[in-house]
Amino acid sequence: MGGGLDGVLLILHGAMVIASYPDGEGEVLRRVRGHLRECLGEAGKLVPIAADLDLHANTSDAMAANASVLTAYRKNPHTDAREAGSRAAQFLNRLMDSGEATQIVRVAPPVICAPRGTGTDTEPMITLQAAARRLEAEHPELLEVCPGRLRLRRHRLRRRQFPGHDDGGGKRCPRPAGSAGR
Ligand SMILES: [Zn+2]
Repeated sequence: MGGGLDGVLLILHGAMVIASYPDGEGEVLRRVRGHLRECLGEAGKLVPIAADLDLHANTSDAMAANASVLTAYRKNPHTDAREAGSRAAQFLNRLMDSGEATQIVRVAPPVICAPRGTGTDTEPMITLQAAARRLEAEHPELLEVCPGRLRLRRHRLRRRQFPGHDDGGGKRCPRPAGSAGR
């Protein structure tokens, strides 16, 4: 997109609660996407936003609708935060290079698993993580399958070219009015 903004990488958690927003990360992603659309118009919908999350993230429709890629820790205790962030960065790089667009599919079955039941060295997480890796291997169009709190988030790839991606004519995204000093 020329001298403009090619992509956004966010290091998030996924269970943030703010007094006025129960879905903190959903609101962060909604605002970032909203700002891109404000600055770039329809092209702002296609600027890739990648973020990583904790395995225990409370995923929401707002997160799925406004991010392009979400990765998640695969280990509990969490010893792989760096790897999850690295995968998010690599996916972002791929989307910026290729112009591919993604769709996040959030599946939330009516199951609650106590936090102590989500250790990844024990069941059911051993089986769920293995199933996620198997789905990724068998379906390359699924960039990342994240079982967390017994919820699967799938990333399905769709081919779509960014308007202005090839011509280098992207617009700059200015600082919003009144934001100086924040
Ligand atoms: Zn956690």
